[in-house]
Amino acid sequence: MKKLLRYMKGYRVQCILGPLFKALEAIFELFVPLVVKSIIDVGIANSDKPYILKMCGLLVILAVVGLSSTLVAQYFAAKAACGFSAKVRSALFAHIQSLSYSELDSMGTSSLVTRMTSDVNQVQNGVNMFLRLFSRSPFIVFGAMIMAARIDRSTTLVFGTTILLLLIVVFSIMAVTVPLQKKVQQKLEKTVLLAGENLFGVRVIRALSRENEEEENYNAYNKAMTKALTAAGRVSAVMNPLTYAIVNIGIIFLIYRGALSVEAGLISQGAVIALYNYMAQILTELIKLANLIVTITKALASAGRIEAVFETKSSVVYGNEEIKEGRIEFKNVSCKYKNGCGNAVSGINFNAKNGEVIGIIGGTGSGKSTLVNMIPRFYDASEGEILIDGKDISSFSKETLRGKIGVVPQKSVLFKGTVAENMRMGAENISDKDIETALRTAQAYDFISERGGMDTDIEAAGKNFSGGQKQRLCIARALVKKPSVLILDDSTSALDFATDANLRMAIKELSPCPTLFIVSQRAASVMHADKIIVLDEGRPVGVGTHKELLETCEVYKEIYYSQFRKDKEAAR
Ligand code: ADP
Ligand code: MG
Repeated sequence: MKKLLRYMKGYRVQCILGPLFKALEAIFELFVPLVVKSIIDVGIANSDKPYILKMCGLLVILAVVGLSSTLVAQYFAAKAACGFSAKVRSALFAHIQSLSYSELDSMGTSSLVTRMTSDVNQVQNGVNMFLRLFSRSPFIVFGAMIMAARIDRSTTLVFGTTILLLLIVVFSIMAVTVPLQKKVQQKLEKTVLLAGENLFGVRVIRALSRENEEEENYNAYNKAMTKALTAAGRVSAVMNPLTYAIVNIGIIFLIYRGALSVEAGLISQGAVIALYNYMAQILTELIKLANLIVTITKALASAGRIEAVFETKSSVVYGNEEIKEGRIEFKNVSCKYKNGCGNAVSGINFNAKNGEVIGIIGGTGSGKSTLVNMIPRFYDASEGEILIDGKDISSFSKETLRGKIGVVPQKSVLFKGTVAENMRMGAENISDKDIETALRTAQAYDFISERGGMDTDIEAAGKNFSGGQKQRLCIARALVKKPSVLILDDSTSALDFATDANLRMAIKELSPCPTLFIVSQRAASVMHADKIIVLDEGRPVGVGTHKELLETCEVYKEIYYSQFRKDKEAAR
């Protein structure tokens, strides 16, 4: 929580005024039983109607003043809490943006989303409640006790015992419920994760008719969460009856002793009523205090989870060199994922000259994406050296790595908006002409102009386009920034062979021509490359041209002939 507190800066005034007005409210409340006492002892005892009216007026004034200070206090508390959480949220967002893929992997997207939403809300709630109650509760509890003692000193024992018992009950219940609440929180995170996955993969789930299984799976988690919640609820349910019982026993004592004292003429009837009122005030206040503590424990837990994100620093440190040509060199490079076992790829050596085409081929999971993801530093190499334009990759700035290296990932991601808007995400200040050129190169111009040109709407996640169309749009988006290095990570898999070939040709004709990495499982996509790297289970089993590899590389031969069987048979 400490680290988060700096986001409270700028709300100091609110943080002082909120509790101050809350304390004021408490003071006004403490006066009410005294006024009631006077009404009974003076007004009713003497049948003094004007006095009673006057005192009732005073009650109304106390209520109005009390309410106004409540409103003021609530206003300040809410302002501080909301302002604080807004600051935390935007800082969190900025921080998450700065993290590299490997940190994002180890935290998990769903967990990050929960931290940015429900955890921040929890902390906001905690701050709000804290500002509102921490000054009020002690005021009322001890204030009521002191006021009661002033009315009748002999009641101190009854009040003291009752408060003690109440505290014991409230805190032991909390000792049980707080850990349960934490459990609920964890379960909630899992349910959210599952729900998110399901919605994300809803098409696949339906296509495979797995709705029922998914539903069962979800229900299992949901039930577990419900169980934990019910358990917490059951224990909390004891709170009210128990505390009320204690307070009422205390009240019986008060009234019994009060009756005797009144009989003996030691105190007035009004005094007994006032004592009763104070006791009732203490009860409600302690229950509020218990809720406050629950809220605060939750908020602290949430704060811890938020701070954990802030404490995760990006492992990637950038330099300030600019990429000029786009020459890439790998020297004995390995990559190991933090959460994976063993190297995902190892022993990668190759050299890509400016404007060359490098093909990378291999089965799924052979490490193709891992290899190319190291070029824009999505992940860093764990061993070996990567050079761009002859300089170590770590000496380049983040901007140049993002700006000069175009990556089209395996999965097409488009955003809701128009075609032009999506293209401008690649680079902001570009003309319509540039977009058109990029669309033409990516072989996307024809279908886009048929559907309404640049202003064609793209639905969320590009659902209104086919897989191959989405891939081409994503390629166009990478092209608009005129990259020096272009990486197509299996991003032409949904194109037919002719379009695929046209696309490669169009990219080769660009000037300046980017160094092109084509990752594919199809031999046809890479066979014309200047250099082909064949990966098998993370190891390079062949580097060379199509011709060379056909002669020397078993894995390449296997892939190639499995896809061009006819040629093989014809060759026989
Ligand atoms: P390809 O692109 O050739 O299908 P990948 O490079 O995606 O293969 O994966 C290579 C290996 O690395 C696989 O065993 C995969 O499970 C693992 N892997 C890929 N991405 C991650 C990740 N983010 N965290 C941990 N392991 C990963
Ligand atoms: Mg891949």
